[in-house]
Amino acid sequence: MSLTSKVLEGLNSQQREAVTYGEGPLLLIAGAGTGKTQAITWRIAHLITTKQAKPEEILALTFTEKAAAEMEERVDILVPYGYTGVWIGTFHAFGDSILKENALELGLADLGVLTRPEQIIFFRDHLFEFPLSYYRPLGNPARFIKAILTLFSRAKDEDVTPEEYLNYAYRLEEKAKADPEALELAEVAAQQMEVARTYQKYEELLAQYGKVDFGNQITLPLKLFREHAAILKRYQERFRYILVDEFQDTNYTQFQLVKLLAAHHENITVVADDDQSIYKFRGAAISNVLGFMDVYPKAKQIVLTQNYRSTQAILDTAYRLINYNNPDRLEFRNNIDKRLISGVKGGKVIKHLHYDTLSSEAEGVAKLIKEKVERENCSYRDFAILVRANKSADPFLRSLNMVDIPWTFSGNKGLYSREEVQFLISFLQSVADFEDSVSLYYLAASEVYQLSARNLTLCMNYASRRNRSLFYTFSRVPEISELDEEISPESKATIEKIIRDLEEYADLSIKHTTGEVLYKFISQSGWLKKLTSSPSSSSEEKLKNVARFFDIVRSTSAVLTHDRVSQFTSYLNLLMEAGDNPAVAEADTEADAVNVLTVHKAKGLEFPIVIVVGLVSGRFPSRWRRESIPLPDSLIKDILPSGDFHLQEERRLFYVGMTRAKKEIYFTSAQDYGGKRPKKVSQFIVEALDLGKKEMLIHKASALEVIGRSAPPLSKPHQLYESVPERRVLTLSYWQIDDYLTCPLKYKYVHILHVPIMQHHAVVYGRALHGAVQEYYRRKLAGNKVKEEDIISVFQKFWTSEGFLSRQHEEQRLEEGQEVLHRFYQRVQAEERLPVYVEKEFSFLLGNNRIIGRWDRVDVHNGEVCIIDFKSSNVREKKKADKRTRESLQLAIYALAYQKVFGKIPERVELHFLGSGLVGAATLDEDNLARTIEKINEAAAGIRARSYEAKPSYGACHLLTCAYQGICTHYVRSS
Ligand code: ATP
Ligand code: MG
Repeated sequence: MSLTSKVLEGLNSQQREAVTYGEGPLLLIAGAGTGKTQAITWRIAHLITTKQAKPEEILALTFTEKAAAEMEERVDILVPYGYTGVWIGTFHAFGDSILKENALELGLADLGVLTRPEQIIFFRDHLFEFPLSYYRPLGNPARFIKAILTLFSRAKDEDVTPEEYLNYAYRLEEKAKADPEALELAEVAAQQMEVARTYQKYEELLAQYGKVDFGNQITLPLKLFREHAAILKRYQERFRYILVDEFQDTNYTQFQLVKLLAAHHENITVVADDDQSIYKFRGAAISNVLGFMDVYPKAKQIVLTQNYRSTQAILDTAYRLINYNNPDRLEFRNNIDKRLISGVKGGKVIKHLHYDTLSSEAEGVAKLIKEKVERENCSYRDFAILVRANKSADPFLRSLNMVDIPWTFSGNKGLYSREEVQFLISFLQSVADFEDSVSLYYLAASEVYQLSARNLTLCMNYASRRNRSLFYTFSRVPEISELDEEISPESKATIEKIIRDLEEYADLSIKHTTGEVLYKFISQSGWLKKLTSSPSSSSEEKLKNVARFFDIVRSTSAVLTHDRVSQFTSYLNLLMEAGDNPAVAEADTEADAVNVLTVHKAKGLEFPIVIVVGLVSGRFPSRWRRESIPLPDSLIKDILPSGDFHLQEERRLFYVGMTRAKKEIYFTSAQDYGGKRPKKVSQFIVEALDLGKKEMLIHKASALEVIGRSAPPLSKPHQLYESVPERRVLTLSYWQIDDYLTCPLKYKYVHILHVPIMQHHAVVYGRALHGAVQEYYRRKLAGNKVKEEDIISVFQKFWTSEGFLSRQHEEQRLEEGQEVLHRFYQRVQAEERLPVYVEKEFSFLLGNNRIIGRWDRVDVHNGEVCIIDFKSSNVREKKKADKRTRESLQLAIYALAYQKVFGKIPERVELHFLGSGLVGAATLDEDNLARTIEKINEAAAGIRARSYEAKPSYGACHLLTCAYQGICTHYVRSS
């Protein structure tokens, strides 16, 4: 079978038309589950296999990271040989890479993307530099910060630049001046002028400090393209085919960006379902689609109506509901037929279950799932519980816990409120500020010190009576007779230890980074070891959260001028005040667990059984909250809808929720959610199920269930880890394979548990060198000039002060790195040819194992291919360098990848040792590659079986200075 027919096999005729459509704009409009995303994926695969486009000429944009990853995987499976270079990602990731490639042209030295809480802090730090008055009331100056930032973000969605906003404000001012009677207008004009000027200042400040916010990730590339024709042209020529999934939800600015990029080739494919537009706020769902036809009036339109996901009963019910959005629907306006025909056989299970209270509802849902799993042939992962808002998920998670059902919650938050993280935070707070009694209280009561509640209370009471801190009291226990008599000698010893430890860590924190101090504490106290050696799912979950917190500590250190505990904790406090509470660790994706997620997050996904919960008026549809500073209508470029836009958007959201289901849908609601009056059942249920005003049957909880509710919630039930079946694709990187082959337990520590480690200084050094070298080539290949100081500054940016033996050690290393880069720069200046690829991603399939990775550099000269990897280690003998190259599993895998992708084994592989400038070279043959395949298969088989037996050896533990030696009981110290 030819490659092409493999790709086209199984498509219906409209899909085939879309997939094989040649050049020019193409609009695919279709309802849910008709294979829109599939069509995009197939089209990419088709373009590649028929050689209509090189992979690197294809740009595919989607909405979430998850969707992008899935699309990439699907393309990998469809293209039977390996390939490399299709750009698949989210708009933000795409914008980010454009910014990185052109940072200097944009005058952005250091590219820090601010999260929302960081944005708030940034704004507050500069609050009095903004020309604000009405929106900065002196009684509460920070009151409007969030509202102002929301306004800016809306302006950025609508491609409203500060200049445009200012012009609008001037016009308003003129109008007000012309009519002195219109006092209200004058007031509005003044307020608008204030926000417009602040918007301008905000953008200036961001630029000045080298920061961008999420909105900038789209607006700045747009600005770059608008102002630099040559740069735009380069990208236009590069991306010959552009494809956009979920086009209905791209905002106006994103569409402008895509339009510019596609202006040259006009090979732009967008797929859209206006009924699933759920991020339009005030702009109508159909704006983009109508806008697309305006820009490309000759675009080919294809409508798909065959649904492959859901039963006919589900489709009809969803269709009935969405028709309530007429006439603001494309189907209605353009007279197309979007009514879906199901290709899925199945019953008609669409039920509404109404309960007396929220707890009954939550219990009912858990029971329903339990019973179905026990009686029918389905597993936990077949279920999705969809919530309208993250905060409504809690009761459902609890009731799943009660009956021991594992779950994953994608909308999770609350890392800082987790016990294990609170423990770390209270340690840091106590070190930073001995007088912080609340933190010290937590710390003393923690499992590390285990000071009894009685003794703690005694000390706390004393402290508060005397208006003293707990630390003060702790340090004077023997002198305070009432405490001295009451507290046992063991507890006194504990208290002394706490004081000693705090003083010791405070000393340490003068010279060491937050991460180092924290790591030392959790490893020296034995806490980390205890956590890693108790094999329960709750300790695994804790470990992952701890690892996340360490990530935060690391990334924050980049923001701080001095990464020291006291600076860190004050910054953390600011973040927390700004509402920051990052997500807790995700459960293992392979685990069999019920999916709990918001409807927004469920977009594009599918599940056999969907339960939409909390369906009462005020929750779903949610109440509309007016933005406190709305973007003026005349600045909104979308078409404003005629009907109740909020209700319409909620209805579309409901439609998205329903159309996730393959076989069964349950709607649940309750009368009592704790408010004064009973709640009304959501109008969407009535619309979808065509219910009259009949009485609803109310499910009530039994007395026993009511009593059971006061039982403490169990901790999260054990996740069921299954082996990964052969038929499921397993994605592995070189690092995973290497770690697994070195020691399966190490693999578990690194890739499953993410156990935090102290970074070795060599890793810091290597990463910074690598970053600088890559930046050099990336900019070079993008056609930009690079100066020596540019790469030095990248080197410094990648640098973190972690793991060095002393300040001198670090300084010398920094200096050495710059010296190495200086020599590197001299060398490469003399290079005549540029590499063909730098940092190029590849992927290929070996059976059902998908190997992904990235070549540092690929050279092709006179038809001879050389794959190069950079090493920061300092090998000085040519023989040694050659040997390492010959034996490198990494290079062997890279060579194998090249063979899979381009059909030939590279002539050479090389390791470039940056320190000495030495090059190790080797030639690999079929035998080498066959052995490499064996190794990959060996690792994959073990990882699939989830077998993580330690494989201790002198080499693995000692020679490689395993970072987990402190916690590993299998560690081999000497041969
Ligand atoms: P949504 O609107 O929810 O994003 P969609 O239109 O993007 O949905 P897909 O997710 O691409 O739809 O496909 C829905 C389901 O139908 C998937 O399980 C997919 O594998 C299946 N499917 C799509 N096309 C076909 C086909 N021609 N034959 C069999 N199954 C198909
Ligand atoms: Mg889709």
